[in-house]
Amino acid sequence: MILRSRLLWKLFAGMAAIVLVTATVIGFLAARQAETEALGEVERRLTGQARLVRAIVAEELLAGFDLDARVRDLAGGSSREADRSGLESGDRFRLTIMDGSGRVIADSDLDPQRAENHADRPEVLAARSLGLGSAVRRSASLERDMMYVAVPVLTPAGEVGGFVRVATSLQAVDHRLRALRRAVFGAAALATIIGLGVAFFFARRVAAPLVGVAALADAWERGDYHRRVEVSSRDEIGRLAAALNRTSAQISDQLQTITNDRNQLTAILAGMVEGLVAVDEQDRIVLLNEAATELLGIQGRTDLPGRPLYEATRVPEIGQALRSAQTSGETVDGEASVGDGLRRRALEIHAAPLLNGGGQVIGAVAVLHDVTQLQRLEGIRRQFVSNVSHELKTPLTAIRGYVETLLDAQDLDQATRQRFLERIRIQTARLSALVTDLLSLSRIEAGEDAVERRPLDLRVPVMEATRALRSAAEAREVRLLFDLPEHPVIVVGEEESLRQAFSNLIDNAIKYSDERGRVEIELRVEGQRAVVVVADQGVGIEPHQLDRIFERFYRVDRARSRDLGGTGLGLAIVKNVAQAMGGEVSVTSGPGEGSRFEMSLPLAEPAT
Ligand code: ADP
Repeated sequence: MILRSRLLWKLFAGMAAIVLVTATVIGFLAARQAETEALGEVERRLTGQARLVRAIVAEELLAGFDLDARVRDLAGGSSREADRSGLESGDRFRLTIMDGSGRVIADSDLDPQRAENHADRPEVLAARSLGLGSAVRRSASLERDMMYVAVPVLTPAGEVGGFVRVATSLQAVDHRLRALRRAVFGAAALATIIGLGVAFFFARRVAAPLVGVAALADAWERGDYHRRVEVSSRDEIGRLAAALNRTSAQISDQLQTITNDRNQLTAILAGMVEGLVAVDEQDRIVLLNEAATELLGIQGRTDLPGRPLYEATRVPEIGQALRSAQTSGETVDGEASVGDGLRRRALEIHAAPLLNGGGQVIGAVAVLHDVTQLQRLEGIRRQFVSNVSHELKTPLTAIRGYVETLLDAQDLDQATRQRFLERIRIQTARLSALVTDLLSLSRIEAGEDAVERRPLDLRVPVMEATRALRSAAEAREVRLLFDLPEHPVIVVGEEESLRQAFSNLIDNAIKYSDERGRVEIELRVEGQRAVVVVADQGVGIEPHQLDRIFERFYRVDRARSRDLGGTGLGLAIVKNVAQAMGGEVSVTSGPGEGSRFEMSLPLAEPAT
């Protein structure tokens, strides 16, 4: 990872360059210095020897003696022998004696006869003018690098009477110098390697945290705020890394909070029964919860946020409410209806402006209430009230009419008076029946709390209802036939309600039977249910009426029902009693074929 850092290699390259240049320069200078010192030492030694030889041979030279043999002794034995043995000693040197003109008089290594004039040699020229001359060059005669040092031999008159020149091969020095150079360059190479290592170490130390910081920045860009940089120093980079780590932690904390809040909000919005639509200033959808998509009939569309509102709904009232909430800055209420036919839904709209921190309007939000059911219930209630009023009004009007006639017409004969009073009695009985049925209905509809339930034998309410209606049946010469089981049929319920329900069914069967008809009453057990059947052979019911006869106040033939003392609530009570006990009623009938009502109720659990 770190090895791919460009910064690391840039830093390293810079430091490596410095190390390399420094090592090279120092190595070079050291080598030069060593060379200069080594040559200087050889020159000093040669100078000493030249002066020593001069002191020894000066007189003989000036006197013109042959010095050839002397020279070889002084030069330390035959150099030719030494050459052959390959021995190189520091004391071995070549000694050349010249006269004042530069002609070689004697030479330790060469035959003087064959030697050329040496007057133009640089060391001889320097010796003549400066008193001491030295030079390094390749000897043509011996074919090797040599150092030459020459001193002049002066006559008593102070003129140059000859030269003593000593020379030595630099081969030994060369060997030493080469070893020295090797040592210097070896040291320089070692220093370079160590320097490079140190350079790499420091480059890495500087680059590593920055690489971490860069990686952190990359992670931020990807939205990953969990990454941390390793803080290994307390310098500026360390402080930067620590600060970034803290920022990272804060951001990820805040993101977590935001995410939690958003999840919570999403859950709340999803759980809302009310539809919710929020738009921005350009009427583009910001939010649309599930309930809203359901209400607007666009379930499952998740692509809506960001799109214009009209793509989601063509209900103009919603857009209008949202817009006027934005322009007025106040809450706006409205109503709308969505869909048609059975899928029609009535909506109540409450729109409010959305404000930013500065109080500016940045959109609007609308809550959609589905008030379809409410409206339906309201309609039913209104219908019921109007029905009840109407039902009450009819007998009351009649009673009032009779009473007023009785009061006004004092001279009515006894028989008419009696007839009127009889009518009043019938009407009050009707009123009473009506009120009783209404009370029963409301008691049953109030639900479980109002009625006390306990296990009971279903045969008992059936028998009681029949017994109470026996005289009514006899009056119309209708025969009541029973088919009840011999063992008890236990259900859980309220006896009084059941008695009334059966009484309503049997009463209807008697009422709508032909004279001298027959009503069958049957109780049997089918699986887990008890079934009570009340069947007659009377007028029957038209198929299209079958659904409606269980409605409150619904009567097939209003006048006939009223004549028969019906309130139109009987079957509504039967249905409610059955439902309250977890059962149901059904009817099969046809005009002129008689009717067959079946009420089925769940049997009590054996344990109860
Ligand atoms: P009502 O008090 O008028 O009898 P119900 O709710 O008991 O009111 O019955 C509603 C209507 O159902 C009656 O008006 C009648 O037309 C019809 N109906 C009920 N029972 C029978 C039946 N056994 N045979 C024929 N029609 C019936």
